[in-house]
Parts: sequence; structure tokens; C-alpha cells
Amino acid sequence: MHPKYAYMDGDIVEWDKARVHVFSPAVRYATAVFECIPCVHGTDGIKIFRLDDHLKRLEYSCKMMRFSDVEYDLRQGIFDVIERNNFTQDILVRPMVYLGGESPGGSIGSKGKSSLAITAYPKPIPKYQKHGCHIQVSSWRRISDEAMPARIKATANYQNGRMAELQSHHDGYDGSLLLNQRGNVSEGPGQCFMMVRDGMLITPDVNSDILESITRDTILELARNQGIQTEERTVDRSELHMADEALFCGSTSGIVPITGIDGIKVGDGKIGSLTHDISKMYHDALRVDSGRGWITKFHD
Ligand code: PMP
Repeated sequence: MHPKYAYMDGDIVEWDKARVHVFSPAVRYATAVFECIPCVHGTDGIKIFRLDDHLKRLEYSCKMMRFSDVEYDLRQGIFDVIERNNFTQDILVRPMVYLGGESPGGSIGSKGKSSLAITAYPKPIPKYQKHGCHIQVSSWRRISDEAMPARIKATANYQNGRMAELQSHHDGYDGSLLLNQRGNVSEGPGQCFMMVRDGMLITPDVNSDILESITRDTILELARNQGIQTEERTVDRSELHMADEALFCGSTSGIVPITGIDGIKVGDGKIGSLTHDISKMYHDALRVDSGRGWITKFHD
């Protein structure tokens, strides 16, 4: 089952009508950037998490890709999609800016009018939150900032994560972790990585070829606020096996405990207490206004 409606360039359209041409730069060259915004449903309607921050990152992504300004009201488009679909569960909202032109002759560097599509759909049921996952350090390396803009959310970047993910599943693991070109820990295919050593929450810094993740930022802020010590720094591969706890985090996946890496248990192989605390803090932050302006309420 899919949602009823999507948004395309200013209009709400039926889901099946939300299409782009096969000859568009978006299809031919993955000329598109997007966001994935978590929203929770409660008795007081839908709450959109860190909307401004997601829209700001989308703006940076568009700037980097030299996309022309989007002519449409993005915020209103998001509200319209949510409203028209009448969701009664937690959802993900995915605005995408892309080059949708379809005339032959366009080269890889051609520009054109930016299109805006917004989809919203029920949040998938998380797979590994209860028991954790066992991941593989991939032999594929994370794209380097010298080759692709790793810190923005460009669809093209996801070929990299896909290679790692397919390999890990083929090899019998639940998921993958990528090292960067320098051989240091970078991130998962669609999540940031964190680990705990002696009570310290450690995560690769933003110069480790990671996406500038909003969930990562959220957790660091919440953890610091609770007096948990944090470090953003280069993480060596061998440190993975010194960790007491490890986790993935992201808007789509939430907090995912990692209980094994490359056939070696993380800590004692069970979900650690700090991981539990972080999951709870994040769960609450999505729902309860902390005065940080993170929640936009949408009443239907
Ligand atoms: N890294 C990658 C490659 C991702 O796709 C995501 C998910 N958007 C993340 C990290 C986590 O980012 P965020 O917390 O902003 O969702």
C-alpha cells in the first residue's frame, strides 16, 4: 500500500501520477538532492522534527549542485502533502529537488529549471532496534570529498552505500560500515556511526567524509546536556573492537544498536546502557518540545 497523494511542482497529484521522464537529468545522471524528515503522530496531530534544519541542509545541497532557485513554497508543500494524506501513524517526509527536464541534447553539465517533488509515507518498522545488528566493515570505501560532495544529501552518493550494503548482505551480515579513503571510520550507507569507550560517546568528525547528519547533531547535543562526555574525532578501524557499545543513527533508521562488527562482539554483544539512554532521549526529543525549536506542530 502506498500513500494516496504526492506533491509535484506546486500541485498535489495522485501517487501514481508522480512521475519524471526517463530522459531527465535526474534519471540519467542522478541529478537530485533530497531530505528525509522524521515526523511523529500523536493525539495532538503530526510533529515534524527539525524542519528548519532539514530545509537549510536542502538549501546547501541545492547551492552545491548549482540548482536554480525552487519556485515553490517548500514548507507549504510539506504541509499540503501531510494534510492531504491524512496520516495516522509516524511518517517520513521526503522533499526532493531535481532536474526533471526531458529534452534531448542536454549534456552532463546542463542546467535548467529545478523541480520539486515531495513524498510522505509511513515510517518503516525498524528491524534491529530490539536486538541490535551485526555489521561488516566494507571493502568499499566511502566517497571522498575530493570526488563527490559527501556532506550533502545527493542521490548519486547513495550508489556508494548501496555497494557496501549489497556486499554485506551477500556475506551474511545485517549491514555495513564504510571507512573513508584514509582508512578511518566514516559512516554507514544511510546512518552515522557512534561508539562508546569508557563512558565517552565518540563519533567520526565532520571531516571524515560523512553526511552532516541532523540526528548525529541531535544526539551530541542531548548527550552533552545530560553530562555525557562526547568526542568528534578521527576513529581508527581497530578502535571498533575496543568499543563497549556502538550504534547507527539517522532520520530514517532512528537509533540502531550495533552488537557485532566483523564477527567480533561489540562489548559483551548485548545492547549497552548508554545506547538505551540515547534511544530514549532521541525518542522523547521527537515528541516533547525541549524549547530548542526542534518541533513544528502540524494540526490536521
Ligand atoms: N549518512 C548518510 C549517508 C545518510 O543517508 C543519512 C540519512 N539521511 C545519515 C548519515 C544520517 O543523517 P540524518 O541524521 O540527517 O538523517
